Amino acid sequence: MTTESERYYKKSLDLIPGGVNSPVRSFSAVGGSPFFAARGEGSHLIDIDGRNYIDYVMSWGPLILGHSFKPIVEIIVKAAHRGTSFGAPTKNELELALLVRERMPWIEKLRLMSSGTEACMTAARLARAATGRNIIVKFDGCYHGHSDTFLVQAGSGLATGGLPASSGVPEAVTANTISLPYNNLETVDACMKSGGRNIAAIIVEPIAANMGVVPPVPGFLQKLRELCNFHGCLLIFDEVITGFRIAPGGAAQLFKIKPDLVCLGKILGGGLPLAAVGGDAGIMEQLAPLGPVYQAGTLSGNPLSTAAGIAMLQGLADAHIYSQLKQYTIALTTQIAELFAVYEIPLRINMIESLFSLFFTTEEVVDYSGARKTDMAFFAKFFQKLLSEGIFVPPSGYEAWFVSTAHTHEDLASTVRAVERFLIEFKSEGK
Ligand code: PMP
Repeated sequence: MTTESERYYKKSLDLIPGGVNSPVRSFSAVGGSPFFAARGEGSHLIDIDGRNYIDYVMSWGPLILGHSFKPIVEIIVKAAHRGTSFGAPTKNELELALLVRERMPWIEKLRLMSSGTEACMTAARLARAATGRNIIVKFDGCYHGHSDTFLVQAGSGLATGGLPASSGVPEAVTANTISLPYNNLETVDACMKSGGRNIAAIIVEPIAANMGVVPPVPGFLQKLRELCNFHGCLLIFDEVITGFRIAPGGAAQLFKIKPDLVCLGKILGGGLPLAAVGGDAGIMEQLAPLGPVYQAGTLSGNPLSTAAGIAMLQGLADAHIYSQLKQYTIALTTQIAELFAVYEIPLRINMIESLFSLFFTTEEVVDYSGARKTDMAFFAKFFQKLLSEGIFVPPSGYEAWFVSTAHTHEDLASTVRAVERFLIEFKSEGK
């Protein structure tokens, strides 16, 4: 029997490329067609056929307080009654900026915009302008949005689609991007030694989360900081995923490293489109209208998004939230790991604070080449079984799972039971 989701998907294919408005939403890596979401409640997503899923995608990161978190919904509704966009500054923009700086004092000044892509694109432009150099160093499997500069050995949807780069990006642009293996100090060192004088910035996901989760090895981020200092280039932390999730002050707080620029998004907007780039005041003052670096946006600092962001950051003010998220993550990952051990199926779980992902491989995963060893055919089966059991995990083996404060012990227990049923079935098929 055809479901409503299937009917809508089929119709969408006619009009929307691939039927989705962001490639990671398609089920191209796991087979089948995506369900159409109708509403979210706490840790659950309900599709247009009325099917209920425990959600570990959580809008790909923003919904750390769960779907339809009441204070956020209420503040958005109130703000909407006052007007949805003004094209003039509002008090909320300042209030949100203050809340960000309270948590991340190394952000002396920041500019609000609408997407993580814009934040990273602007950070690169600022770094190039501030240093008078062109080259940006990034790491294989990290994703910094879809601006031309970063579509080289990128993670997220490009990893899922097996694409090393994007068509339509001039070579002249990517000639100024160097992508190096994550967590490999020797290659960064060598690269900086040979070309340090031409490098504007090193941009890094301080905890990589777009090739699956890959934490930095001890000393990696410190070394990047030292190399940037020595060679006079900027260190950019792309904290679009880690910001406000890994700690109130993000990975910079956790690892006690001060980046020159930070890119924020996702949680910052409380589920509405909002992002920011911020950091050293002298660099940020290069932005128009003060300086020569142009950046703008009709809907930047949108009043609904900033209202949602304020309610989100206020909702995250209780530090206990972070220990709860971590405990839940440990409980879930430990039980899953135990089950895989019992059924003797290779599994590596990378986890740090409340960020984690599963790799179906025997080897430790510390970089993109390691992540690519995960058994994707196995992942597709795993995904489909969980989905049929009412559990929605990212439809790609290269993405992080997200827990929220709305997830319950019962959600975790149901997930673990579903994983066990999958393993029993898989084993009984003799595979
Ligand atoms: N940086 C990182 C680390 C991301 O994970 C993402 C999106 N997943 C982006 C940048 C781009 O953000 P957006 O999708 O809002 O453009």
